[in-house]
Amino acid sequence: MEYQLTSPEETQALAAKLAQLVTPGTVLFLIGDLGAGKTTFTKGFALGLGIKRMIKSPSYTIIREYETGRLPFYHLDLYRLAGNNDDLGLEEYFEGEGVSVVEWANLLEELPRDYVTITFTKTSLEGRILNLKATGPNSTALLKKLAKEES
Ligand code: ADP
Ligand code: MG
Repeated sequence: MEYQLTSPEETQALAAKLAQLVTPGTVLFLIGDLGAGKTTFTKGFALGLGIKRMIKSPSYTIIREYETGRLPFYHLDLYRLAGNNDDLGLEEYFEGEGVSVVEWANLLEELPRDYVTITFTKTSLEGRILNLKATGPNSTALLKKLAKEES
């Protein structure tokens, strides 16, 4: 599934819509260069869950947890993770009652069973193409729901 967005607001609106459809255990992998819009998307996603104040980036903590939204929300940013990441215990997040959004998920060594991969491509100053791909039954169902909402 591909979406063409023409402003940060549009990207956040799509993310917020997706957030309204997610269920416990949903995992989103965000892939794209620095400045592609991953954190911008995550902010919109948090808003869609009802989380009013999202800290811009987890930076040195790698994982930030938010408990004030419709579902627990885990924001992971693996950018500063160098190499060895097989002992982070991330399954605990991925398989829990909350929803996880992972920036720089390409650095993960072990993948969960069910996840959505969102690839960000910058086409102009404010133009972005988001490609959404489901791996697993829950993610497939989620993207079907989103497509229905969008049509
Ligand atoms: P990343 O987390 O991928 O490094 P950020 O979200 O931090 O990227 O930064 C993206 C930058 O691009 C922000 O300054 C944002 O305002 C800008 N931007 C411009 N157009 C868009 C768009 N359509 N979607 C997302 N961000 C956009
Ligand atoms: Mg970022």
